Amino acid sequence: MIKTELDLLVFGSLLLTMSSQQAVVEHPVLGIRDGKIVFVMPRKDFQEGAYCAKKVLNRRDTLIMPGLINTHTHLAMTCFRGMADDLPLMTWLHERIFPAEAQHVSPQMVYAGSLLAMAEMILSGTTTFCDSYFFVDSVARAAMDAGMRAVVSQGFIDFPTPDTPDPSRQLDTVERLIASWKGASPLIQPALFCHSPYSCSPETLLRIKAAASRENLLYMLHLSETREEISLIQERYGRKPALFLRDLGVLDSATLAVHCTWLDEEEMAVLAECGVRVSHAPQSNMKLASGIAPIPAMQARRIPVSLGTDGSASNNDLDLFREMDTAAKIHKIATMDPTVMKARQVVQMATLDGAKALGLEERIGSIEAGKAADLIILDLNQPHLTPMYDPFSHLVYAATGSDVLTSIINGNVVMENRELRHLDLDAIMKEVKAIAKRIKKGHRD
Ligand SMILES: [Zn+2]
Repeated sequence: MIKTELDLLVFGSLLLTMSSQQAVVEHPVLGIRDGKIVFVMPRKDFQEGAYCAKKVLNRRDTLIMPGLINTHTHLAMTCFRGMADDLPLMTWLHERIFPAEAQHVSPQMVYAGSLLAMAEMILSGTTTFCDSYFFVDSVARAAMDAGMRAVVSQGFIDFPTPDTPDPSRQLDTVERLIASWKGASPLIQPALFCHSPYSCSPETLLRIKAAASRENLLYMLHLSETREEISLIQERYGRKPALFLRDLGVLDSATLAVHCTWLDEEEMAVLAECGVRVSHAPQSNMKLASGIAPIPAMQARRIPVSLGTDGSASNNDLDLFREMDTAAKIHKIATMDPTVMKARQVVQMATLDGAKALGLEERIGSIEAGKAADLIILDLNQPHLTPMYDPFSHLVYAATGSDVLTSIINGNVVMENRELRHLDLDAIMKEVKAIAKRIKKGHRD
């Protein structure tokens, strides 16, 4: 009998597919070859002698699910973690973050800070992230070294930035990104990010959107994060932010709007009509007291809403399990209704809806034959996960990132039994500590 060759065979106690039917498979067996899922089936249907696998993962009491997708990060800001807390957004941004970035952000700092963030993300179950920052080449190189799937977006704002000192040369920066990373790896998707409608002129917003459309790239921006932004845009353009952006012509299904904290009914209708996707970052919104985004109302309008942690200076961690817990609870208290934002829906936001937000739903976000093998394996044999009536409940209300044992990205085991396979964590932490020492002293990196 000819055996089917596999790269990896994974056994578990329970598997959440997170496909549109949200099927749950008991005692699952999963086969992986060439980075893709070949089959998922219950063990009773599995014919042992029909396959030969290069590697087998088989541990009792484990849950297999799609890797989590973090749709909004500024990874290198791990270097600023805990540096400026307990401040309102505009003070935090203009008095602390922007000056620190102007002084310390360099290709080396972005590489080291991003690598640290990737170690933290892999250790807490994230397999795909969407980052927006400067020196994007360093982020993409770090993702390749870590073996992570990444949307790496170049940040733009209307003042000199560390990688674009002359804002009139923004399109040169776009060209460099595209030349280096478009089509370079199945793991890396380049994208473009305008900081916000208040920090980018209409010309910048339009120019960057045109470049994104021409190159078929995702276009992102922070939108309606604070009440202050609403009055600023209203004063400047005589319209609410979402209406201003629609009239400008930058809203469509390749636009990912981050935060959307203060959208009203009319603006939500505009987002739904234009097909815009949303990244919800509740912990950042809470920490900066920005507000509570009307997510249940957006979901009622079928706007795809995903989860993001935002940067480590405004969260201050990258654990999407904590973000899921917060997302589930914040909307219950905001609406005084415990039935909104159910656990199952929140897990979908961190998986398949995350893939939709990034335009990657054909490739990732669920465990189905033919999709990329991006998955995580959790250890269920723990007091805080015992007993288990409903796995979705545990994932949102009881689990943390440290329950993730093993992580597989594109068929590649990047963490096994909590050991990182591609990253030297001690060396990475040493490097970031050295950068933080220079930041404390105020010296240039
Ligand atoms: Zn952000």
